[in-house]
Amino acid sequence: MEIKVNPAAPESRKAKPSDEAKLGFGKFFTDHMFTMTYSAKTGWDYAEIGPYRPLCLDPTAMCLHYGQEIFEGMKAYRGKSGEIYLFRPQENIRRMNNSATRLCMPTVDPEVFQEAVTELVLLEKDWIPHGRGTSLYIRPTMIATEAALGVHPSSEYLFFIIVGPVGAYYQEGFNPTKIYVSEEYVRSVRGGTGNCKNAGNYAASLYASQIAMGMGYTQVLWLDAIEKKYVEEVGTSNIFFLIGDELVTPPLEGTILPGVTRDSVIQIARHLGRTVSERRISMDEILRAVEAGTLREVFASGTAAVVSPVGQFYYQGKEHLVNDGKTGALTKQLYEEILSIQCGEQEDPFGWRI
Ligand code: PMP
Repeated sequence: MEIKVNPAAPESRKAKPSDEAKLGFGKFFTDHMFTMTYSAKTGWDYAEIGPYRPLCLDPTAMCLHYGQEIFEGMKAYRGKSGEIYLFRPQENIRRMNNSATRLCMPTVDPEVFQEAVTELVLLEKDWIPHGRGTSLYIRPTMIATEAALGVHPSSEYLFFIIVGPVGAYYQEGFNPTKIYVSEEYVRSVRGGTGNCKNAGNYAASLYASQIAMGMGYTQVLWLDAIEKKYVEEVGTSNIFFLIGDELVTPPLEGTILPGVTRDSVIQIARHLGRTVSERRISMDEILRAVEAGTLREVFASGTAAVVSPVGQFYYQGKEHLVNDGKTGALTKQLYEEILSIQCGEQEDPFGWRI
């Protein structure tokens, strides 16, 4: 499919943020966006890169009422000599199409999807910041646009991609986070949409996050919905526990998001000769490990921070420290390994960079 390019008028272009230290996350977006529309009669059409602009939706647009909205999150990195890299984009494309199928939305041809991402990133390459760990965040999104009330799959959709510079997550070194184990609220259930990246999952997570933040914690650690016994994931990241010499992460059983970083951590840790298990892990097992002194490290994995150390957790009215609240050696090593592959500082034995 041909992607038309309709450049933004020079006078409408924004000034690029001058201080990379103040980029933060999700605050700045570039001058262009990719859009493509779908109708049940004709399929996907009108692929275009045009000016970044507000959307015009009918008040009955179905995404506003019944929640057919899915998205992805990935990044483009600038290498030392100016090369520009994407990290495993096919995985995000595959995951977005899985989300689409589960939400009765149309899938996007992976080649068109990847070309749209590539063309948009290259057009906006001057927006990619230079500092180590900074990047251009890429947010592909699909919404149901048919103007009609009544619960049924929409017959029309808009797929768009916006991009914007984001800062380095760890400007002042690693900051181990404090997490709150939610015993009352759950994120997803077996048979639900926990393994999809749809807006509803995030709306449903806000209430427990607010409770956690009110108590001074950064993120919620979610447990399984049935027994409230097994760990699932943390905030918008997957979770890993180093117990003795075994690196453990919950298995993909439909209730957690299959993180691209999670899979990268597993492959790199195995490549480094570590034992990695994808298996159920209960809070009881974690408490026993704390007691026995074998819980060595806990970290979260996700596109935003790559890996993020957990320094303590709150469960059943008690605080528990992990590794004296400090960042562990394996956490640091995995962060360095992944980041240096992402921004082209080392060999890419897995062929992940594009
Ligand atoms: N779980 C959830 C709920 C998330 O939103 C994310 C972020 N996409 C992750 C895990 C981590 O996934 P990834 O490593 O692909 O960013």
